[in-house]
Amino acid sequence: MTDAATQHAQAAHAGLDAPRTIVVIGGGQAAGWVVKTLRKEGFDGRLVMIADEIHLPYERPPLSKAVLAGEADIDTVRLVKPDDFAALNIEAWQPDTATAIDREQRIVRTQSGREVQYDRLVIATGGAARRLPDALVKTSNIAYLRTLDEAVALGERLRASQRVLVIGGGWIGLEVAATARKLGVAATVVEGAPRLCARSVPPAISDFLVELHRANGVDVRLNSGLVSLDDHPHDAKRVRATLADGTTLDADFAVAGIGLTPHTALAETAGLAVADGIVVDHFGATSDPRIFACGDVANHPSAWLKRRVRLESWANAQNQAISAAKALLGVFEAYADIPWFWSDQYDVNLQILGDIPNDAQLAVRGDLPGKRATLFYVEDSAIRGAIAINMPRDLKLARKWMSQGRTIDLATLTDASTALA
Ligand code: NAP
Repeated sequence: MTDAATQHAQAAHAGLDAPRTIVVIGGGQAAGWVVKTLRKEGFDGRLVMIADEIHLPYERPPLSKAVLAGEADIDTVRLVKPDDFAALNIEAWQPDTATAIDREQRIVRTQSGREVQYDRLVIATGGAARRLPDALVKTSNIAYLRTLDEAVALGERLRASQRVLVIGGGWIGLEVAATARKLGVAATVVEGAPRLCARSVPPAISDFLVELHRANGVDVRLNSGLVSLDDHPHDAKRVRATLADGTTLDADFAVAGIGLTPHTALAETAGLAVADGIVVDHFGATSDPRIFACGDVANHPSAWLKRRVRLESWANAQNQAISAAKALLGVFEAYADIPWFWSDQYDVNLQILGDIPNDAQLAVRGDLPGKRATLFYVEDSAIRGAIAINMPRDLKLARKWMSQGRTIDLATLTDASTALA
């Protein structure tokens, strides 16, 4: 990030009056961190949060795991206890949906007919689970997973069934399959691509994930385009999937995890710059200096990746929101985290940090086909990224060295007889 970027943000801020009313659209993790941070930083003006779910902000990682298994609920996953939220003195308009932003008059209108004038606005609208095309789905026995209520409903259904069909071999699909197996439910995963999680991990990790799921009894079908999903011909309570090669698969119900559609329509209609998410700067400011965006819906310049990116991760939702909330109040701390993501499946904790360039040198420490290994991706003697399988300490060290810009000797990295630290 350049000094010019900070100066530009500071100049834009200096041209505005101090905010008295801040409106936050969204009620997820990013929105939760915005309102918490604003109060922590001393903002004592009017704070309105407009959210379409009834729940106060909560964290999503447990939804595809503990919530599905029936081991966690809103009390376990919430970001702020109700009493603490009340103490923040926030007008929570829930459930309600922001339907328009009038940038000239600085007004947000909602579906229920309310409106509020803002001095600053934060859009933290996240997204929704991508839907399978209507032309393909001829059954109502299909579930999606994005919200807490969807996770609770899916968990009840899963725990009452014997076989689930999972469409999509991404993070949702794999975590749902792993939870199904934990509950003793048979699972088939249908993935259109030749490998699992193809967009976020290299082939060696996709192979590892296939083996992991197959070893746990999941029927994983790769290169398997779904051509139709119907009611079972003899039992309308069940489903039948037909794949491109004519294969049919039967299950009690189907769940699709085929990606996220960011909620950008409101911003787009308001004339803000949108390109795979709402375009923001290092501080979360959009093309309108009074309006900020953060979390899954925001596309920001990543200092580590050296390109713009829209990240759908827990860490991003929290830390980008904190940076944006501070910038709203004139405290400029650029959001420059190294991208970080994790998934828990069976007895495996998988963490991905930084960039995984195709042409980087690879140093493997540990036993990759086994369940304890760290993969370091090295460029110009520095770690660009790391993937750790049940090696959280290695990842912690990698993060430290990457943040310090430390040079690394490849041979030492792979030498199992030398302690990494
Ligand atoms: P995802 O990770 O993008 O995976 C979607 C998968 O579905 C991709 O492999 C995609 O393949 C495949 N797919 C797309 N259309 C398909 C079709 N018609 N038939 C079969 N496969 C199809 O998205 P997700 O798993 O739905 O997760 C949604 C969001 O929640 C993501 O942001 C994810 O990171 C997040 N999440 C995170 C965690 C975690 O942090 N541990 C856990 C769960 C979810 P192509 O790439 O070839 O299209």
